[in-house]
Amino acid sequence: MTIQTVTGPVAAEDVALADGHAHAWIDPPPGVDPSARLELHDFDRIAAELAAFRAAGGSLVVDCQPGGAGRDARRLRQLAEATGLWITATTGFHQQKYYPPDGWLWTASAEDAAIYFAEELTVGTRESAGAIPAATIKVGYEGIIDGQTRILMEAAAEAAHQTGALILFHTERGQNVEALIPFFADRRVPASRLYLCHVDKRPDAGLHRALAQAGVLLGYDTFARPKYDPDNGAWKLIAALVADGLAAHVAICLDMALAEMWTAYGGGPGMAFLPDVILPRLRAEGYPADVIRQLTGGNVARYLARQPGQPTF
Ligand SMILES: [Zn+2]
Repeated sequence: MTIQTVTGPVAAEDVALADGHAHAWIDPPPGVDPSARLELHDFDRIAAELAAFRAAGGSLVVDCQPGGAGRDARRLRQLAEATGLWITATTGFHQQKYYPPDGWLWTASAEDAAIYFAEELTVGTRESAGAIPAATIKVGYEGIIDGQTRILMEAAAEAAHQTGALILFHTERGQNVEALIPFFADRRVPASRLYLCHVDKRPDAGLHRALAQAGVLLGYDTFARPKYDPDNGAWKLIAALVADGLAAHVAICLDMALAEMWTAYGGGPGMAFLPDVILPRLRAEGYPADVIRQLTGGNVARYLARQPGQPTF
């Protein structure tokens, strides 16, 4: 099982500690509305923080900004080379607000978008002139499957079917994630190719259990966000899923899209929160070492490996 990183293929089993939903570079194109501009493109600051994460045991960062919305796979590769971290890039699409008004994807046909996604996964990303492939397909899902979002979801399904790549979803606090499994199953994409992010903002343990049993990967990222009450949300969800034997279906993430979350930008909690706070708490709560490794890297690594054909989970 290999993962397509920006510096080449990596064996999934070699991943020890990962940020399962990360942002290592966002440089929005001109024309994006100022209220939706995420500015994360100070190379030296980002490299310093990623290097510290690497030194603390970090091995992989799953970058979640798709092409046209601020991704630069060349920069991701330079950051990987400078720090020794593995980084994966994503194709696909985010919410429309992250694009300029004339962003071509927002009027593209499903066929054209599918060709673009599949090309970025198998040949390479556009800004790298085909030199650096993406590993995943992002879907910016606001809870409603209609309009151009539906067309682009059809394209994501087609590209996933062709390549076996993992689809990673931005969800709006888990809103209407129930609709995703049947939509993609109808298009020959099994639940084991779906990675639902930000779902711990909807801490319904019964729902999470059902999604995990169906085969999806669940991304939790509220650990350092007190307003979401992680003690009663993410941490209890982990306890519930591990107790039910579903530890293979959760990925722990930081999702530091805002510069103010980076220590190197003068903010916090920083990437160190994963090795310095989350890992010790998992140990203190008594989870076995193999479960901790699954939650903090093993699971996302396994899902990132391409799976053409049938579900294996
Ligand atoms: Zn994100």
